[in-house]
Amino acid sequence: MSHSERPPRSGTARRTIPIVPEPASLYEAQKKIYPRSIRGVFARWRWLMVWVTQLVFYGLPWLEWGQRQMVLFDLGARRFYLFGLVLYPQDFIYLTGLLIVSALALFLFTAVAGRLWCGFACPQTVYTEIFLWIEHRIEGDRSARLRLDNGGLTFEKLWKKTAKQGVWIAVSLWTGFTFVGYFVPIRQLGVEVIALQGGWQIFWVLFYGLATYGNAGFLREQVCKYMCPYARFQSAMFDKDTLIVTYDAQRGETRGPRSKTAAPAPGQGDCIDCSLCVQVCPVGIDIRDGLLYECIGCGLCVDACNTVMDKVDLPRGLIRYATPNGMEGRWSTSQMLRRVMRPRVLVYTAVLLGLSVAMLTSMAMRTPLKVDVVRDRAALSRIVAGGKLENIYRLQIMNATEAPQRYSLAARGIAGLEVASDTEVDIDAAQARWVVVRLRIPYGTVQPGSHVVHFDVEALGGIPARVAEKAIFLVPR
Ligand code: SF4
Ligand code: SF4
Repeated sequence: MSHSERPPRSGTARRTIPIVPEPASLYEAQKKIYPRSIRGVFARWRWLMVWVTQLVFYGLPWLEWGQRQMVLFDLGARRFYLFGLVLYPQDFIYLTGLLIVSALALFLFTAVAGRLWCGFACPQTVYTEIFLWIEHRIEGDRSARLRLDNGGLTFEKLWKKTAKQGVWIAVSLWTGFTFVGYFVPIRQLGVEVIALQGGWQIFWVLFYGLATYGNAGFLREQVCKYMCPYARFQSAMFDKDTLIVTYDAQRGETRGPRSKTAAPAPGQGDCIDCSLCVQVCPVGIDIRDGLLYECIGCGLCVDACNTVMDKVDLPRGLIRYATPNGMEGRWSTSQMLRRVMRPRVLVYTAVLLGLSVAMLTSMAMRTPLKVDVVRDRAALSRIVAGGKLENIYRLQIMNATEAPQRYSLAARGIAGLEVASDTEVDIDAAQARWVVVRLRIPYGTVQPGSHVVHFDVEALGGIPARVAEKAIFLVPR
């Protein structure tokens, strides 16, 4: 509506006075959120996940496997070291499989219990939690932080803000350093950073550190609300049997303050409208407004409300994990859990299990040897001394084990075919080598045209490995 009309006063000439409304702003200024800290089951789970994920993230690059880093994505050498495995670009199928398994696991967990990933394990959530904890330790809880931010510049404010920023920057830089340590051997990276060598490495440490500092220190819930695509398509994965954090409006309304001792007013519900559930929410929403896309399912409002219910001697669970069907039908927890195994969840589980088993089996049976054959384009086919016809090939042999290996080379497919170059080749641990191989047949023994031959490459000693690769032997007219 662009205009509205004011009705004429009685007795006056009929005329309209246009009222032009204020133009609506499409931009909502960010309101800083000061989440109150809370104790409870979900808060403990969140911290457990912070510890588990961060112990793995910060610790893994420092662990060794034999003579090398246990997990290293060496992009320069195009080799990925994963515990006992050495993966080459040719093994990218496993990475694809891993991504599909991760996506399916996300679908499964979301169908069962909503945004578990967002609330408990997403790096944005985890780092925001760590940064909030630092803020809390230095500046105090919600009311102290509000007082500090709303007050003037004092010595206390100055030192607290400086200390907080200092610790945030240190954590961010260490996070950036650790992240780059997954791509460059971390001990070597440490030496380079201290000596201010390796410009690109230092750039990426600073870049990732800055991303952590900005996202966890300042953007926080804005990332979840406006930047993360997952929040947008989550509703497609929910159904009426998905467990989500829900406010029991039937029990809670009509909300209002009440005394612990006096009987509630007629029609009064259990919600005492204390707003604690809103104060603890890291995205600053009110769960009593219903399911909102901003809700990351962290459960902190459940902890907050349970604390309040304990204080006013009312049963816990005014805010709880429940399914829309369960809430509507007033089902018990076991009734709701029985609906978890619905067809959709069973399909996700079956596909996830099938894919995981297929991937693990394929990795366990993987041959630690790779061979690529390329024809020598300079000399397709030629007659050499001794009346032989020769074709030349280049074989790339990759030793995917962690020990030097000797391989035998043989060829088959045409009568009288022989290898006229070295039939044994040594390759260092986790290295690849190009080898020139000459195949010969007696001239005139085979019809002109293209003939299929096979190279057989086999490990001599060490881990057994054998690969047969097809090639074409050309016989000119
Ligand atoms: S509404 Fe509750 S579950 Fe949702 S984000 Fe806020 S505190 Fe977490
Ligand atoms: S914490 Fe519980 S009682 Fe307090 S406002 Fe929220 S829902 Fe109502």
